[in-house]
Amino acid sequence: MDAIVRPLAVAPCTSDVHTVWEGAIGERKDMILGHEATGEVVEVGSMVKDFKLGDRVLILAITPDWNSLEEQAGYSMHSNVMLAGWKFSNFKDGVFAEYFHVNDADGNLALIPEGLDPVDAVMLSDMVPTGFHGVELADVKFGDEVLVIGIGPVGLMAVAGAALAGASYVYAVGSRKVCAEAARKYGANEIIDYHNGPIAEQVMKLTKGRGVDSIVIAGGTVDTFAEAVTVLKPGGTIGNVNYLGSGETINIPRVEWGVGMGHKTIRGGLMPGGRLRMEKLAKLVTSDRLNLSYLVTHRFNGFDHMEESLNLMKDKPRDLIKPVVVIDDKLF
Ligand code: NDP
Ligand code: ZN
Repeated sequence: MDAIVRPLAVAPCTSDVHTVWEGAIGERKDMILGHEATGEVVEVGSMVKDFKLGDRVLILAITPDWNSLEEQAGYSMHSNVMLAGWKFSNFKDGVFAEYFHVNDADGNLALIPEGLDPVDAVMLSDMVPTGFHGVELADVKFGDEVLVIGIGPVGLMAVAGAALAGASYVYAVGSRKVCAEAARKYGANEIIDYHNGPIAEQVMKLTKGRGVDSIVIAGGTVDTFAEAVTVLKPGGTIGNVNYLGSGETINIPRVEWGVGMGHKTIRGGLMPGGRLRMEKLAKLVTSDRLNLSYLVTHRFNGFDHMEESLNLMKDKPRDLIKPVVVIDDKLF
């Protein structure tokens, strides 16, 4: 049922930074890092129906077991154990390797469609599905005023997803100029710099004390929830996709949460995996509804640049959104 894939291009992720430098998911020893890649199939098991040697494929960061009970309950990303759909560099070796293993190939691979740049396609591994899942979690409805906290690559895709989902106005929180510019291209109406004072104060001022209908959290810390709950209208929903790498507890302010009765919903989730989702999201790109080219600010050629690109993700220079490392340039 499985496949062996050779990476064509890979990308380091902020989640890799949490994993390596914050030990966020517990100790991991002798494990290869990385979960974002496009690749070429080099071997398939006898039960794989739809993929063959030489196919160029998209691979999601999350590769669930599609026959697990959790998947049957609708939570593929938690197949077998909570978060266990996230296998690469968590439960097994990741994709920053010469070859990597993909379980359940028919469910977890998708062909790179004609016309999709293989470098842009790496953004479909994690950035697009995670940002868009934030929008799903936040339950964005037509006409909603949406706040997106964090406009790194994940938050930018949440801005794009919110705009596609029918948001009437998008407030986006971040400070890097390159991210702010991209956010405007993806549909942000107003940029809020969190260095200029508490986010809640700034949003309340801009919304004349009304707050917002839905919020995607794609940056910040355990303390960001307090700001989000404060500016969320009753009946609204917070969708968190931020990986909380440190801190013991999350802060929910009692009074602003309606002393427990404010109908302010807080949801947080790992994105679901799956071929269908990948194929649908890729169609948004090939049909020109979603332009991924604004995300990749740094491009490297060759494995030798892997560490450099990971360090970029850690240090977040002001001109960075996302780096991609092309492993085999000849193929493009
Ligand atoms: P980035 O670090 O590139 O972006 C973070 C954003 O948050 C930036 O815009 C940054 O602003 C902003 N920010 C930083 N500190 C604060 C603060 N105190 N208050 C408000 N905003 C702040 O991260 P990514 O976009 O790469 O990833 C976002 C998160 O999503 C990460 O935690 C990552 O691990 C997680 N993730 C989760 C996945 C999932 O499946 N749930 C999958 C992939 C990633 P500035 O412009 O100043 O840098
Ligand atoms: Zn990632």
